[in-house]
Amino acid sequence: MKALTLTAYQEFCFGESPAPVLGVDEVLIRVAACGICGSDVHGMDGSTGRRVPPIIMGHEAAGTVVEVGPEAGAWAVGQRVTFDSTLYCGSCAFCAEGKVNLCADRRVLGVSCAEYRQHGAFAEYVVVPGRVVIPLPEGLSFEQACFVEPTAVALHAVHRAQAGPGQTGLVIGAGIIGLLTIQALKAAGCRRVYASDLSEARLQLALELGADEVFPARSTPHLKEEILARSAGQGVDVAMEAVGISATVEAAIDCVRKGGRVGLIGNLAQNIAFPLQSVVTREISLFGSCASAGEYPRALEEIAAGRIRVEPLMSAVRPLAEGADWFRRLYEAKEDLIKVILRP
Ligand SMILES: [Zn+2]
Ligand SMILES: [Zn+2]
Repeated sequence: MKALTLTAYQEFCFGESPAPVLGVDEVLIRVAACGICGSDVHGMDGSTGRRVPPIIMGHEAAGTVVEVGPEAGAWAVGQRVTFDSTLYCGSCAFCAEGKVNLCADRRVLGVSCAEYRQHGAFAEYVVVPGRVVIPLPEGLSFEQACFVEPTAVALHAVHRAQAGPGQTGLVIGAGIIGLLTIQALKAAGCRRVYASDLSEARLQLALELGADEVFPARSTPHLKEEILARSAGQGVDVAMEAVGISATVEAAIDCVRKGGRVGLIGNLAQNIAFPLQSVVTREISLFGSCASAGEYPRALEEIAAGRIRVEPLMSAVRPLAEGADWFRRLYEAKEDLIKVILRP
């Protein structure tokens, strides 16, 4: 089969690669479209230790069922499907609780690290366990389905934040996850949702996608004052941090009201400075949010119904053969590309 393989850090080869072998509980899928994730771009230079070459990356994909293992479940050849990028075991204590993102034996598709190598979907074919396969709703395109993973991440974070009708929210960082989180907060019924980012283009997109007001980080040195001025001096109910550095986590804590909640989704830095007293004395609840746990079906529904819009986030849909070039452009980050989708 044809595949795009990371053969060395920063080096790709598009060409023939052995087709994956189907296990008894697995489904073989012909990949129709696969999105490039930020974690692929950050990982391709070796800095994360999660894309050790050689590896076929790619975990945000959709396609059609080609072959079904005898113990993989009732999937039909030709069925249009997507799949959870977290390959969970289905039998550990976390899986039993539905917290599949915390599975003791968790593997992520298209990732290779010290513990495992799991080839992904930048290829004509991919195999995944039947338990992670999810059918596509009628009318949803393969390209739209590529957004199910980041959308599920946003829905999971908003669910953990217990954000709901009448509340106010702030999203710091308007990358793909931030832009989807803004929409997820709105879909949850939040009354006002604010956003902040360095990129004016992304903030423009945030407004288009439902943010009520946006604050360019460069020209808003005192985000806290702006937010307090709009919330009777209190702060927002929920702040979602989708960057992961000291300054933005601190800003999220600053902007939330007493007793409010701060969701930590971004994790660029391993360690950060932490405004301990502000959190303790104002009884702020902080929580981490990683991947998703069962939000895929809802993510597909929200996209199919247009409550979460993904088309404006599609920067390019191009053949897989051009993949190396698009990875380079995303890595250089000179353009405001949000999501690039490759078609094998
Ligand atoms: Zn991803
Ligand atoms: Zn498990």
